[in-house]
Amino acid sequence: MIHGEIHQNVRQYINGRWETSATTGVSANPSDTSEVVAEYARADRRQVESAIRAAADAFSHWSHSTPQRRADVLDRIGTELLARKDELGLLLAREVGKTLPEAVAEAARAGQVFKFFAGEALRGGGENMASVRAGVQVDVTREPVGVAGLITPWNSPLAVPATKIAPALAHGNCVVFKPAELVPACGWTLAEIISRAALPAGVFNLVMGSGREAGQALVDSPLVDAVSFTGSARNGERILQAVAARRAKVQLEMGGKNALVVLADADIDHAVDCAVQGAYFSNGQRCTASSRLIVEAAVHDAFVARLRERLKALKIGHALERGVDIGPLVDEERLARSLAWVGIAREEGAEHVWGGEPLQRATAGHYMSPALFLARPGHRIAREEIFGPLACVLRAADYDEALALCNDTPSGLSAGICTNSLKHAMHFRRHAEVGMTMVNLPTAGVDFHVPFGGRKGSGYGPREQGRHAAEFYTTVKTGYMLA
Ligand code: NAD
Repeated sequence: MIHGEIHQNVRQYINGRWETSATTGVSANPSDTSEVVAEYARADRRQVESAIRAAADAFSHWSHSTPQRRADVLDRIGTELLARKDELGLLLAREVGKTLPEAVAEAARAGQVFKFFAGEALRGGGENMASVRAGVQVDVTREPVGVAGLITPWNSPLAVPATKIAPALAHGNCVVFKPAELVPACGWTLAEIISRAALPAGVFNLVMGSGREAGQALVDSPLVDAVSFTGSARNGERILQAVAARRAKVQLEMGGKNALVVLADADIDHAVDCAVQGAYFSNGQRCTASSRLIVEAAVHDAFVARLRERLKALKIGHALERGVDIGPLVDEERLARSLAWVGIAREEGAEHVWGGEPLQRATAGHYMSPALFLARPGHRIAREEIFGPLACVLRAADYDEALALCNDTPSGLSAGICTNSLKHAMHFRRHAEVGMTMVNLPTAGVDFHVPFGGRKGSGYGPREQGRHAAEFYTTVKTGYMLA
């Protein structure tokens, strides 16, 4: 396998300048661990604080920039992302291990998000209404919040940052962006494109470093007015406490234990497709992955048999190899954790159906066969987020039990149902306790222009994406005037 280019100049972007740091780190290709993807600077607390100060200083100017100016900047970024989607997808596939088609699609999505928010910068507006008092006029306007600290995970290293950076800038905020440690090349490349989009110095800043130091500095700073975090529930909970304690705005997008319900009247082949895509593509390393497959008793055995055949036929290998369905897990630690879940499933008495083995390929990478178990509702594999290629099937007597099982979780991100019954589809859309429902579609795979997010333990604060992003990235002002 030919190694790709090493990104060596991966530095912080603070107040319009590229800065090195005292310490450095590397990211490696999970499909071939002998390949270094990036050598990058790791920001310390002092550097993050200087990025925050730069953003705070730039705010008075940027918050009063014209909508046209903001739209032009975002449009330019979106245009470049779309034009370079193949190259960026290749980088993403090398750094995270998503297959090339998935990675290119993510790069394109990041571009579409910037294009959408270029439009939002122009569409933003307020309300004008009659006062209840004679001779008084009232209007409701939206203003930017201030400095937005944006903290993102490794699993969608272009799309998730785009979903935060684009609305923050569109609505007139200044940004300090901290990507996850595993994906510095993706974070830096996005920042490099943004750095050439004619933004005033300090409006957008990149700090790469650990969550404990660089991330925590954003959470703690009194100059950061809004923190948007996507990541694990454990870190989200800590961030919520810290940010709420100093009364700044906070938005959390966290994990899920998403269910796909399969009813007896469903097209079973299509349901199996939905399960394979939702549970196993990207190795289940998606917050919307369907790690619970809840199947009505009448079709349970047929569904499991067909799913097993599909899993046997999947091609697991190097993310850049043509025809590969699933690449490697992102790193050694996540592979070890997923294999440990296979051990837990066996120990708690779940019935093994297929997979769950480490795999050897021509290059040294973090490969594993997709694992399927039959479980009971109390099993840990049916209750906790795994974030790996392991799903379990739960048997339900009928639709009512399937819905009850679906909702029997502290999470509430995405839920799907495969059925040909309009009655059950409509009921499910109304009664699934989640932020997003899918009928005859996988639980993962969403549009970029409509709200994204969850309820219960999966999310906190206003939704991301679409027009709803304004709820987080603006603050409302009510103005009265004697006419
Ligand atoms: P993580 O919580 O380990 O890290 C996420 C980010 O938070 C990283 O940038 C990390 O450096 C930073 N961080 C860690 N500790 C911090 C602290 N104390 N203060 C500030 N920042 C800190 O999550 P991960 O392993 O990168 O991502 C996987 C998780 O993300 C899964 O649980 C998945 O479900 C979730 N996720 C959710 C969504 C969603 O939109 N709901 C999307 C993608 C991923």
